[in-house]
Amino acid sequence: MKIEYPDNPDAKRMVKFQIHVRGLRDERVNEVMEKIPRHQFMSGRRIEEAYGDYPLSIGYNQTISQPYMVAFMTQKLKLLGKEKVLEIGTGSGYQTAVLAELAREIYTIERISSLTKRAKALLVKLGYKNIYFMVGDGSKGWKEYAPYDRILVTAAASSVPRPLKEQLADNGILVIPIGESHSYQNIIIIRRLGNRFESWESIGCRFVPLVCDDEID
Ligand code: SAH
Repeated sequence: MKIEYPDNPDAKRMVKFQIHVRGLRDERVNEVMEKIPRHQFMSGRRIEEAYGDYPLSIGYNQTISQPYMVAFMTQKLKLLGKEKVLEIGTGSGYQTAVLAELAREIYTIERISSLTKRAKALLVKLGYKNIYFMVGDGSKGWKEYAPYDRILVTAAASSVPRPLKEQLADNGILVIPIGESHSYQNIIIIRRLGNRFESWESIGCRFVPLVCDDEID
């Protein structure tokens, strides 16, 4: 769903000099990132920081992704507007807002309840009505509403959690950072074709780890 926002010169500059210039030219994604008030997802940050070319802390040892990474992963989802999307790692809710503009409905899971609370309050205030929130371990997916046309994970796992593959619709696309935490990671793109899964490695990245319930002792 599209929300109307006031003109946002900082976001326009961010898209021009960090995203478009590096070859990401998906007009639908870029238009959305040119208007969403990214600074509102990071209260207390100066504007230059909020639109800067880097990830930033959002508290609780978590980060909001670099704008380029948000654009890259979103572009890989090839959203046309009708999709049901599962997002793992709500965090600040910024990526959630980008998805909510480009797809039909978003199911977003975050394990830290204070982050969900903050993101939800802001996204509701901004006017989004197509986002459903859950606090919990996203590596298990959200079975109740499966299958999903697209799944986006914004925390790094050492391998693709099986429930996410199972909950991906036929012809669906799953985008996930894979690799050891705090070391080398890659964005992996997976497409489901019946019971087969094709996967591609794309760019390197650095995400906070996907923390799964069964890994906590
Ligand atoms: N997309 C977010 C980035 C969040 S960073 C943004 O734009 O702000 C990754 C998030 O994943 C963190 O908030 C972290 O708490 C969350 N996370 C880590 N492991 C998780 C899990 N198993 N299930 C759900 N969320 C998880």
